[in-house]
Amino acid sequence: MTHLYGAFAVDGEARVGVRYGDQVLDLAAALEPGLAAAVAGPNLDRLLAGGRTLWEQVHAAVADLEPRPEHLHPLAGGRGLLPFTVADYVDFYSSEHHARNLGRILRPGQPELPPNWKHLPVGYHGRSGTVVVSGTDVVRPSGQRRTPDGDVVFGPTTRLDIEAEVGYVVGTPSALGTAVPLDDFRDHVFGVCLVNDWSARDVQAWEYQPLGPFLGKSFATSIGAWVTPLAALDAAWVAPPPRDEPLLPYLDDATTAPAGLDLRLEVLLNGHRVAAPPYSSMYWTGAQQLAHLTVNGASVRTGDLYASGTVSGPEKGERGSFMELSWAGQEPIELPDGTTRTFLEDGDEVVITATAPAPGGGTLELGEVRGTVRPGPAVR
Ligand code: CA
Repeated sequence: MTHLYGAFAVDGEARVGVRYGDQVLDLAAALEPGLAAAVAGPNLDRLLAGGRTLWEQVHAAVADLEPRPEHLHPLAGGRGLLPFTVADYVDFYSSEHHARNLGRILRPGQPELPPNWKHLPVGYHGRSGTVVVSGTDVVRPSGQRRTPDGDVVFGPTTRLDIEAEVGYVVGTPSALGTAVPLDDFRDHVFGVCLVNDWSARDVQAWEYQPLGPFLGKSFATSIGAWVTPLAALDAAWVAPPPRDEPLLPYLDDATTAPAGLDLRLEVLLNGHRVAAPPYSSMYWTGAQQLAHLTVNGASVRTGDLYASGTVSGPEKGERGSFMELSWAGQEPIELPDGTTRTFLEDGDEVVITATAPAPGGGTLELGEVRGTVRPGPAVR
């Protein structure tokens, strides 16, 4: 049994595979011809476009498979390929704890949450062309920043950060001019993957007003190589936190199926666990995010990726960014090797993992997202 779908290379050819431990099963070779056609090609694109009925047929067939040795391959280089062609990319801001922490850090003395926050899932459109697969090095970006003295300078970011997030992978498109209601979420979304939304905090702080994130976010967004279908997460659905503002009907989930997910994330820096963010604490669900994303008639496409925003829980050890863990650099984190961190240094490796309750008991692991910081090119 496996719940990790992705793409891998065998003899120089990209194929769709599912993970069995350190090995990967060539799914097009293993499935009977009718279903094998759905997973032909170099990645999950064809399966994503096939729709919910097909996803569930494939998932049931995968569950029944007895993998044959000739269809199992070692994972070349230990890593998968980008699992699908990323169409549009949206990033939300759906953790109340994260939003309040950022409010306290960036706007002291003012209300922690902006007035819209409990009425809609705040988000922005990101850059799909720089979404990279787990294992891809992240080059330290350069950009403009303003020094504490007020000078505007250019150079490598001094505040490189992560954001530990969960991404939703859209399979079935929606038509321009239509909205996706909460109840149709599972007809459109194939599954989830982990996301690291790398962020240059100093670049972001200088550029973000009035139109929001731009170059401080667009240099790289890492996603896990292995997507977990919603069909494997039946035991993980939970009710989101109580809503303390009435919601407009298109977002009102009081009577819909619970759409929160009990995913337990961990953030490791150079192998040392620095945070354990609980995804079940997120205020806005993936269903609400999709409903809001399309409520103006904007369409979604096969391969669209929308991410949750930084996952942070109420406790200090549950914060999904170094901005919060180090409280904007004021409270350095101590590491077992005796060094401390506020933001990331060149050579640092960040791994984000997650587990979920498995059907029938136990837990299942989502595909990790891993990346190492490399120095940027010399700048002029
Ligand atoms: Ca983010």
